[in-house]
Amino acid sequence: MRMLSKYILVMLLGACASMALMANTPPVPAADQPRTMDQVLDRVINNEQRLYSQMRSYQPLVETYIQNLKPDKDLGQVPAGDKYFLGRANFSHGVSLVPLNDVSSKGHRMMGSVGNFFSFAMQFLPDGFLQMIFIDTNGFDKQHYHFDYVRREFLGEVRCLVFDVTPLDKKNTRGRFLGRIWVEDQDFHIVRFNGRYEGNGHSSWYFNFDSWRTNTQPGIWLPTFVYSEEHDLHYAISKKLDFKAQTRLWGYNLGGSSKEEELSKILVETPVNDDTKTSNDLSPIQAQRSWDRQAEDNVTDRLERIGLLAPKGEVDKVLETVINNLEVTNNVDVDPEVRCRVLMVSTLESFTVGHTIVLSRGLIDVLPDEASLATMLAHELSHVVLGHRVDSQFAFFDQLLVDDKDTYRHFGFARTPEEESSANAKAIQLLNNSPYKNQLGNAGLFLQALEARQKEIPNLISGHLGNRVPQINDLRSSAQVDPKQNPQKIAALPLGGRVKMDPWSDKLELIKSKPIGTVAEREKMPFEVTPFMPYLTRYGSDAGKPVAASAQAPAAPESKPGEAPDPSKP
Ligand SMILES: [Zn+2]
Repeated sequence: MRMLSKYILVMLLGACASMALMANTPPVPAADQPRTMDQVLDRVINNEQRLYSQMRSYQPLVETYIQNLKPDKDLGQVPAGDKYFLGRANFSHGVSLVPLNDVSSKGHRMMGSVGNFFSFAMQFLPDGFLQMIFIDTNGFDKQHYHFDYVRREFLGEVRCLVFDVTPLDKKNTRGRFLGRIWVEDQDFHIVRFNGRYEGNGHSSWYFNFDSWRTNTQPGIWLPTFVYSEEHDLHYAISKKLDFKAQTRLWGYNLGGSSKEEELSKILVETPVNDDTKTSNDLSPIQAQRSWDRQAEDNVTDRLERIGLLAPKGEVDKVLETVINNLEVTNNVDVDPEVRCRVLMVSTLESFTVGHTIVLSRGLIDVLPDEASLATMLAHELSHVVLGHRVDSQFAFFDQLLVDDKDTYRHFGFARTPEEESSANAKAIQLLNNSPYKNQLGNAGLFLQALEARQKEIPNLISGHLGNRVPQINDLRSSAQVDPKQNPQKIAALPLGGRVKMDPWSDKLELIKSKPIGTVAEREKMPFEVTPFMPYLTRYGSDAGKPVAASAQAPAAPESKPGEAPDPSKP
């Protein structure tokens, strides 16, 4: 029997887990461990060179979101325009990017020389942001750089050696890195570097950046996050650039062993029997439902293969619990049952494919509470209840074989304005019968904040695959904010506050960081870009544990540091 579930999402305001100092688990020095600083640096340089060649075999998805900034007398700086790129990286000849969201029919590729982030045409170059995953592909060695040991420091649970890195040749520095690197102290991979490339010119500019890697496989640290920002960068004669940008990489294992695993799973699967007792023939209505379900499955499978949809996981379950709450209290019984999936991107998206409701990671991130989440889901559930159907063309398999660059143009799930307004009306009805009916003020606050910012962040909030986030006018005006649920009147969170993604498998989980108490008005930063501060862990060290939990999370009492066998080590 279906029941209501409560309190799934707590207000999580501490977006990023803090870097913790953990004074345990000293690494056991292996026989081939370097003994001098010089030997350490040789290992660092070797590992870095190997990474450059390893990267050629990967084609991760790359997303860059840029917010221009303008001064605000109360809030410091606020967004003033934005840019969004999504593409698949290709490292076979240098660094390049095939856009997935290029909806212009020309499909032109933006070209920039290596390390050029801002072209003479005063455009941001997506390839340039991708470049910041590498320190220097053209001479990262002792002949070109001076390394100055600074100290030891923990990033998350990973102990690191910290070096300042400067180019040796002071005259010919163009494209050379200047800044700091963090090297993990077991195998000596660079796990973070922070600085800039030297040599701004008349037609190209380099930005400050902070680049992070993740231990995705034993002995492999792959680039995953880059934060960059620039203030008061003067270009042309009178123009000035202020911006913050986040770049994320994921989908490293899309083409790889996942298909192998899937195939072996299929080979051992038992045949599925139809459980209808009387007859195996479908009535025309059942046939239509089955056809629609096939279209729906085809679309979600395809989007997952491209790397746009996360594999089924714990976040889907959270969404499905909220859907269940809405259905139970409204006596809604949908057949086939409603499923929820998460789109990997940072833009705020929600749409429905048949009976599958899709919310983007970015949307889940910025929603302030469960009632706001319920509001977004109620709108999509309304499309299902009202029978707004999937394009059944997608039940034909040729419709799914699209080129990467045509993805966004090909898959469109936008609804007509009539369908949108009837879904909004139905959503209000569903919400008013639901356990969220007294908390809808927060959702109203969220929708107001979205409207207030819509001119400043159009690329974040406009729908790319579906419609933009629903504008439910009734909700915005009527409901009061519940001071108990939301004492600080948080309208929306900064980007990246809730959902953590595994860049290798695309699996998502909810970040479990501590609430951080009172938040100053300037710290609320609704829909804004903030720096990355991922909690680094070693591969396999944390299986089953919340990866991004804060350092204060209680450890299981029976496990003592250093005792647990490390499955990644032979
Ligand atoms: Zn809609």
